[in-house]
Amino acid sequence: MPFLSLARQVKVLRQELDEAVASVLEAGTFILGPRVEEFERRFADYCGVRHAVGVASGTDALELALRAAGVGPGDEVITAANTCIPTVAAIETAGATPVLADVDEETATIDPAALAGLVTERTRAVVPVHLYGQCADMDPILELAAERGLKVVEDAAQAHGAGYRGRPAGALGDAAAFSFYPTKNLGALGDAGAVVTNDSSVAERVRMLRAYGERSRYDSVAQGRNSRLDELQAAVLTAKLPHLDERNARRRELASLYTERLATTSLRLPAEAGGRRHAWHLYVVRSPRRDELRAELAAAGIGTAVHYFRAVHQHPAYAHLGTADLGRSERLAAEVLSLPLFPELTDDEAALVADTVARLAP
Ligand SMILES: *Cc1c(COP(=O)(O)O)cnc(C)c1O
Repeated sequence: MPFLSLARQVKVLRQELDEAVASVLEAGTFILGPRVEEFERRFADYCGVRHAVGVASGTDALELALRAAGVGPGDEVITAANTCIPTVAAIETAGATPVLADVDEETATIDPAALAGLVTERTRAVVPVHLYGQCADMDPILELAAERGLKVVEDAAQAHGAGYRGRPAGALGDAAAFSFYPTKNLGALGDAGAVVTNDSSVAERVRMLRAYGERSRYDSVAQGRNSRLDELQAAVLTAKLPHLDERNARRRELASLYTERLATTSLRLPAEAGGRRHAWHLYVVRSPRRDELRAELAAAGIGTAVHYFRAVHQHPAYAHLGTADLGRSERLAAEVLSLPLFPELTDDEAALVADTVARLAP
């Protein structure tokens, strides 16, 4: 049982993908054309915001959203310590200094109280990460941001279709960054990302920054870069977007199946926090003997993954960022285990995974 099979997904959607690719080949436009514009319109609608701007990756989306929101050198940006490296890499390429906050034990998302304790006069923005497909506790974060004059840029790379108190992920802060890396809930056939926002000036700035800072062709008014979305990926994403809700619903069914069958085990199970709609990007259990369990599952033919083996400051490159108390993030890194969860996984396969896990971690 693989942890994930993208080949199965391609098989299910093959005809629509073939048509999307063929339409681009026939049109003969490959970068920032009508298909990018169409996807941007549709994805903005999906997120319930006014603007979406396609870029080359989720990491770029975060960097450009931060820069467009006014973040730059000398600024501090607070994010969760248990995120993946791209989140902090994007803060750094925006020119700012990442500051790591510990997370809430239950949801593995940034702890608003820990966050509040880290705000200084240099803090310019907060990047809550909607980890595993569940939104961070946004209301206290937005309240603090309003009080202290901070920008809020959501890292929604794992949260396509997630929600918080009736509002969609991506529509919660000043701007949000999505990734369409192939393994995400909405994935391209390569790298792709988008910034979504209700703020027209942020959208306009991202549009310039993704193309050499050009306001119009060969008229550069900001120091930008090349981070464009291409027509092929946009056509693929437009073809896949209408399937996102039904695919997320299937993820939810599989998550419920796991939760039912694992309820009596020794594992700590993921839960949907009050008022939140989980997009079930990952189904992450916790075990104090995670590494042994993982090896036993591998021996039984069941693939798993770990998101993530280390909190950010436990990586050699980021040791200097480990200044606050980040004990909960460290404990998560030692205990989390992601079980196979993708829409094409059958009920029988999920039952086999659950029963094997239950047998090995009674
Ligand atoms: C995938 C991911 C990113 C980076 O997206 P890329 O498209 O791979 O650059 C950033 N943050 C989180 C939480 C992610 O899961």
